[in-house]
Amino acid sequence: MFESLSNRLGGVFDKLRKRGALSEDDVSEAMREVRVALLEADVALPVVKDFVKKVKERAVGQEVIKSVTPGQMVVKIVNDVLVETLGADDEESQINLRAEAPVPILMVGLQGSGKTTTSGKLALRLRTRERKKVMVASLDVYRPAAQKQLEVVAGQAEVDSLPIVMGEMPVAIAKRAMSEGRKGGYDVVILDTAGRLHIDQELMDEVAQVRDAVKPAETLLVTDAMIGQDAVNLAREFNEKIGISGIVLTRVDGDARGGAALSMRAVTGKPIKLLGMGEKLDQLEGFHADRIASRILG
Ligand code: GDP
Repeated sequence: MFESLSNRLGGVFDKLRKRGALSEDDVSEAMREVRVALLEADVALPVVKDFVKKVKERAVGQEVIKSVTPGQMVVKIVNDVLVETLGADDEESQINLRAEAPVPILMVGLQGSGKTTTSGKLALRLRTRERKKVMVASLDVYRPAAQKQLEVVAGQAEVDSLPIVMGEMPVAIAKRAMSEGRKGGYDVVILDTAGRLHIDQELMDEVAQVRDAVKPAETLLVTDAMIGQDAVNLAREFNEKIGISGIVLTRVDGDARGGAALSMRAVTGKPIKLLGMGEKLDQLEGFHADRIASRILG
């Protein structure tokens, strides 16, 4: 992720560093290039505008031009604004498990976004890192293979999956998962909801019913980073319609631009909590704005 952005910004900053003394025009010129680089990375326009404005304001306020190492100061300011834009301090990007056990986590998103894989990844992560007893349950009763797929993934993650009862509807499955979770002494129940190819009212209504039935501690939108700004719009829509608590970006391993990651927080107000970095179940990373910023700025 961010390869091209990183290269572009690297070029801009190398030039700045070499200048020694900087004029206001130099800073403006650099910001023009930063703006183009961000737009090319598919960052949402309002986010780009806000970003450049903040950097400029601080660059002037901190008297960059008069400082001994002005280039470095600009890079530092860009880094700070980048971290703020990416948002989510470490506290906020944690998975919230502060609820009565079994803690319900609802996974939502479009079909093919990586929801089932991510449910398995999250189960594995919670089992191994947090030593939690985890159960997963698939509420996808529309695709016959979906429930089975989650069962397979759960087996790989070495967590339990709720036994499948043919013909049972999503809300009933969710309630059964919670009661089995309670009886079995589980810490966490991950509910993998059905996805559709597009957002439709029926999907949203169903997710809302499940949400009301289990009152999840987390409602995580799983979305493909490679669809760029569409992912951001999707997150906004899911948040408006059902309320999400965080975002998991998948296929970050194939996303060279990074626009979704950069715009998500600013546009939706919701933190990115996890990054899917590959197909394997252990390829899930926590989200750390400072690390991402240094990945971008080199
Ligand atoms: P669902 O329909 O939303 O449940 O999506 P799936 O979990 O079935 O995932 C769809 C495809 O995306 C599968 O082939 C997964 O292996 C793949 N996938 C999921 N997450 C990632 C990821 O982070 N990186 C890559 N490269 N592939 C992923």
